[in-house]
Amino acid sequence: MSERVLRGIGVSPGLAYGPAMVVDWRFPDVPDRGIGPDQVDAEILRLRSAVEQVVRHLETLRQRVRERAGAEESNIFEAQILMARDPEFIGACEHLIRKNLLSAETAYEFKALEVRVAWSGTGNMRLRERLADLSAVQIRMLRVLLGEQDDELELSQPDGPVVIVAHELSPGLTVQLDRDRLAGLVSEEGTRTSHAAILAHSLGIPAVMGVSDALSHVRTGTVLLIDGSSGNVLLDPDPADLREASTQVSRRRKLELEVESVADLPSETPDGRRVQLMANVDLPEEIDLAVRSGAEGVGLVRTEFMLTGRTMLPSEDDQADYFRRVATAFPRYPVTIRTYDLGGDKFPVAFEAPVEANPFLGWRSIRVCLDHPEVFRPQLRALLRGAVHQNLRAMLPLVTRVDEIRRTRAILEEEAQLLARAGIPAAATIPLGIMMETPAAAVIADRLAQECDFFSVGTNDLTQYTLAVDRGNARLASRFTPQDPAVVRLLKQVMDAARAHGIECGVCGEMASEPLTAVLLIGLDYTSLSIAPPSLRLLKWLIRQIPYSACRAAAHEALDADGPAEVDAILKHHVSPHVDLRLVDPHGPLPARGART
Ligand code: PEP
Ligand code: MG
Repeated sequence: MSERVLRGIGVSPGLAYGPAMVVDWRFPDVPDRGIGPDQVDAEILRLRSAVEQVVRHLETLRQRVRERAGAEESNIFEAQILMARDPEFIGACEHLIRKNLLSAETAYEFKALEVRVAWSGTGNMRLRERLADLSAVQIRMLRVLLGEQDDELELSQPDGPVVIVAHELSPGLTVQLDRDRLAGLVSEEGTRTSHAAILAHSLGIPAVMGVSDALSHVRTGTVLLIDGSSGNVLLDPDPADLREASTQVSRRRKLELEVESVADLPSETPDGRRVQLMANVDLPEEIDLAVRSGAEGVGLVRTEFMLTGRTMLPSEDDQADYFRRVATAFPRYPVTIRTYDLGGDKFPVAFEAPVEANPFLGWRSIRVCLDHPEVFRPQLRALLRGAVHQNLRAMLPLVTRVDEIRRTRAILEEEAQLLARAGIPAAATIPLGIMMETPAAAVIADRLAQECDFFSVGTNDLTQYTLAVDRGNARLASRFTPQDPAVVRLLKQVMDAARAHGIECGVCGEMASEPLTAVLLIGLDYTSLSIAPPSLRLLKWLIRQIPYSACRAAAHEALDADGPAEVDAILKHHVSPHVDLRLVDPHGPLPARGART
């Protein structure tokens, strides 16, 4: 790859072009400063007033986020406010001021370092999330104590559309930037599930994260062209690059018009194969777009996102309300609620979790839920209550064993009886399906099919576990592909097992949202795809262009291929007679909403 291209993870689609604005959202230098005994009281007052100032600032941010992005996202600041006010932490700083005669900023830095050392080096994602909050609070506190300017406020008024480049993006910075003056975001840290990435996506800001060497290549003023889909960041694009990007934009506009024209038509191939297109819902804000885009139900609600930034688990009532709300939006279609997929990289502050060397191979998903009935049971009760008039289904993540389904079913039955006995309106039962996202489950799919009502393949994890490639590791990004024949063969095996036992089997991993791999899935006889709402219309348009016979031929050849490159070539060979490949290659710079070229 050219030296002008930095590679990261595309976390929010769209093409952005503009000069970089490097945000040094890093720890300020704190001079080691001692104080005299007569200054102790004044220094403690200074510390307390800095805390008040930072908390006020965070509360303002919370309010702004609530107005711009909704209440859910604004919860992100709750953890930081609690941390800023933490009496134990502040008490320890005051102790250092008093006993060691340190200045307020030196004491604060010292205490933060102590906490950081205790939390670091664990590899535990939950603690990493808390570390990010600690960093954000520490930087604010030190800046106030040192009398420095607050970048975030300065940056809310940049001169023109800029691409913000930072080591790590704070959610505060992400949400309060004026959308009209912001072209895109790039950061060295962060993955798709980091707070700032989730926010950038729901706000429609193109963003690339995990660009590990961004700050050593980019200076303020360096012109950048970033692609929030492929994760490419192009430095100093030349006129030819810009012409290509602008051609992409025009091509995309033309495509958008074509895509609009099929909005009210069924998602059906030219030779009559019907494919049900459902939506994945991560945040409540996506429900609307999913409905407007014609989703035929919801194939995946990621309930763990209800916990993002929260310090407390949502109540049973909150959950029942949310489930009803999604179900009501799709009265004629199934709505699939996945039980908490906690663990891996998703341990929010609200949940105490042990430190583990390999969190993705550890205490995750259904394992956590079965070990914590006080968390699992209220969620299942909420599902039963929500299902009373609605078409809700429950889905279990990361299943590897038959007994995980049986134990859940037993709990569901018990809770249904308890609800009935208490006279609380609730469904007596609810369809129970599982995510097919481990090789173990795929291998025993025939057995699992006898225990549950439907399968949905989680190709993100299935790819990760089958290929032994960490899905969040930017260095291995080229190896992480569901086009690998090993994954393709498992997909066929799972579909065969589901069919043999007469249960429904769909796909809800990202593979279903990407045009080429969606073709492969249709060829493997998957007829229910659950995808990110912004991709729904494009997918429908694509399905209407490519005959099932071509999908089928491609899948047939892919099963015999030697490697992912060959599968890619096979897919392109079969797709190219029907659509312009430049429109469907996820690794080319495909601009979406918000392109600025
Ligand atoms: C998957 O693994 O493909 C999936 C849909 O679940 P998640 O991405 O939430 O792990
Ligand atoms: Mg998964």
